[in-house]
Amino acid sequence: MRIHHHSFDAVIVGAGGAGLRAAIEAAGECRLAVITKLYPTRSHTGAAQGGMCAALANVEEDSWEWHTFDTVKGGDYLVDQSAAQVMCREAIDAVIELEHYGLPFNRTPDGEIDQRRFGGHTRNHGEAPVRRACYSADRTGHMILQTLYQQCVKRDVNFFNEFQVLDVTFSEGRVAGCVAYEQATGDLHVFATKAILFASGGFGKMFKVSSNAHTLTGDGPGLLYRRGIPMEDMEFFQFHPTGIYKLGILLSEAARGEGGILRNVDNERFMERYAPTVKDLAPRDMVSRAILTEIKEGRGIGPNKDYVHLDLTHLPPEQIDAKLPDISEFVRTYMGLEPKTQGIPIQPTAHYAMGGIPTNIDGEVVVDAEGTVFPGLYAAGECACVSVHGANRLGTNSLLDIVVFGKRGGRSMAQFVKTADHAPLPADASDDVRERIERIFASTGTEKAAEIRSELQDHMMDKASVFRTEESLSEMVTVLDDLKERVERVGIDDKGEVFNFDITEALELGYLVDLAEAVVVSARARTESRGAHWRDDHPIRDDANWMKHTMVTRQPDGTVTLDYKPVDGDLYVPMERKY
Ligand SMILES: Cc1cc2nc3c(=O)[nH]c(=O)nc-3n(C[C@H](O)[C@H](O)[C@H](O)COP(=O)(O)OP(=O)(O)OC[C@H]3O[C@@H](n4cnc5c(N)ncnc54)[C@H](O)[C@@H]3O)c2cc1C
Repeated sequence: MRIHHHSFDAVIVGAGGAGLRAAIEAAGECRLAVITKLYPTRSHTGAAQGGMCAALANVEEDSWEWHTFDTVKGGDYLVDQSAAQVMCREAIDAVIELEHYGLPFNRTPDGEIDQRRFGGHTRNHGEAPVRRACYSADRTGHMILQTLYQQCVKRDVNFFNEFQVLDVTFSEGRVAGCVAYEQATGDLHVFATKAILFASGGFGKMFKVSSNAHTLTGDGPGLLYRRGIPMEDMEFFQFHPTGIYKLGILLSEAARGEGGILRNVDNERFMERYAPTVKDLAPRDMVSRAILTEIKEGRGIGPNKDYVHLDLTHLPPEQIDAKLPDISEFVRTYMGLEPKTQGIPIQPTAHYAMGGIPTNIDGEVVVDAEGTVFPGLYAAGECACVSVHGANRLGTNSLLDIVVFGKRGGRSMAQFVKTADHAPLPADASDDVRERIERIFASTGTEKAAEIRSELQDHMMDKASVFRTEESLSEMVTVLDDLKERVERVGIDDKGEVFNFDITEALELGYLVDLAEAVVVSARARTESRGAHWRDDHPIRDDANWMKHTMVTRQPDGTVTLDYKPVDGDLYVPMERKY
């Protein structure tokens, strides 16, 4: 294999919202490279629909303190409260900054940024829904991604597009470099660098029904996990209530923010029973469980009674056209239905990883309960766990998280590299990746990556998704033991060097399986129900024993161990989570 060498002060892995916002901060401050497996504007941030929240109070009274309270309560009190305060306070400037960068937000008649409702965002600590989400129709993420990319182009950011990072090199206890595979040529590239910021997105592709893009395979967390970096709160994976039935394609919560209603087979607005105050705008974990409970109790719709309806038919057609154009088109294209006149079959879809690479509020990766920083290592966005989302993220808080903590991470990394020197890069930095690739090329194994992936997704959906038990999770452990062994025997048909997605998918599968194990081990340990983690065999939230984050570590011999980290902040004491 051809191996190329580069040297930079700082490297950002990923060019979604978090990576691009970090790049804007670091550009011009140091010699910076952004490495991304997708062309930047194809990152999943571009698929985000509904909005980005900030307590601008443009259309009704609001405050960032109420926003913080909602974030903490929505996260079922596992949120680190000082981090949430930072995010909610800085949200306001973050939106205005995007506006000044040229982002075309929807406007009120008098020209201010318009705002709409989203789940779990309330006025005065839970009194009623509040209009807090800033938006660009239902393509807010697209606008954010394009706007940030333009700002990067303006700053001459140095992109390595369609380069996939597969390993990180540490030496003398700090970051020394990373290794990337160039998709267009099959060559390897070794980057010597003083610091790396991971902004590589989520890993929703471990579940069968998912809103996530095909590429969201957790490479960043996966490769760090293999190098001994712990992962925080992996048991908390969010299911979004309204995925298109069977396909999982997202229908934004903005549909309910605009007045859409969930209905069961009796045409009943069943959320009135589960969350009398905010109804359809309860947090996602509660709505997803409510939908599946309706289905379990026989009130689902369709021949198999396995979905419910999202009903928009009572909304004025011009409101649907103006505020929800993209998702209406998805319904027409993928379901052949007209959302203005027909109910839309939906089911919960795997959506968002609350857990990930542990960081502090400056994007520095921390490796233990004491908050010890790993020198030169940073993370931001969905791959990171700050933790501002705790056990369940509120809608529109992720687009916010990526710009606030992307900026903070980029800024602190740029500061760090000004005084740090390069750690010596071992001569064998690329050996591990090269051997992995050569082994797969040479393999005569008959196991196919696509088949193992779909088995993983089926079993994770079945045994480790919205409802879990000790029994289902221990079965999943057995499944994973088998899959881990089979991954070693994957063979590929395409032996070429140019855009060989057989090889990249085989490599991605390894990360997905490892991270699935991290999810399952953490979920099995947590014998309580909190936020998105629901245990049928432990249905009560247990604050006495479980007000703590999990930190799961893969040891060099492949065994997985658990540690815990206290939740930060006591401004808001845990209360019963009623809506
Ligand atoms: C359909 C959908 C709708 C959503 N709607 C909303 C919404 O309305 N509001 C909201 O707040 N949140 C929403 N979310 C969540 C939110 O969009 C994401 O959490 C957020 O955009 C993630 O941004 P990111 O920058 O962390 O990662 P991404 O945007 O996913 O970018 C990841 C980047 O990492 C790169 N990468 C990955 N692996 C590698 C590798 N091995 N080497 C090099 N590069 C790599 C990719 O190329 C990509 O550039 C939505 C999510 C989905 C899926």
